[in-house]
This record gives sequence, structure tokens and C-alpha cells, in this order.
Amino acid sequence: MKVTVIEDKCCGFATCISVAPEVFDIDSDQIAVSLIDGDLPERLHACAREAAEACPTDAIVIEE
Ligand code: SF4
Repeated sequence: MKVTVIEDKCCGFATCISVAPEVFDIDSDQIAVSLIDGDLPERLHACAREAAEACPTDAIVIEE
């Protein structure tokens, strides 16, 4: 699984970081970024999916 944040859609409310702090962070422009390039470890899949569902602007794209 890979996760990507669509910068133009991100409003920086940081819900994703609350849900999945090992997967997302906020950069200096107040945009969420994925902390993990490439495949996410299996143990982070559930929280990454939860973050994508919780994102108010659908800015998180998950590739299975
Ligand atoms: S929850 Fe969505 S809109 Fe909010 S910071 Fe994360 S990616 Fe951006």
C-alpha cells in the first residue's frame, strides 16, 4: 500500500496526523505529507485507511 496527499486538496486541519501520526506530518506550508516513501508496513495499513476516510477534503489517495 502507498499513500499520497493531493496538495491542492489539503486544508491542513491535521485530522490525518491525529489518526495516523506514524504515516503523516504537516510541512512548513501547513500541508500534510506522507512520512513513508514507498510501501507502508502492514501494521500501518488500517490507520492509513482510517485517515483517508477521515480526511474532510478527500486529499489522501491510497494505492493498494
Ligand atoms: S486530514 Fe486531509 S485535509 Fe486534513 S491535513 Fe490531512 S490530508 Fe490535509
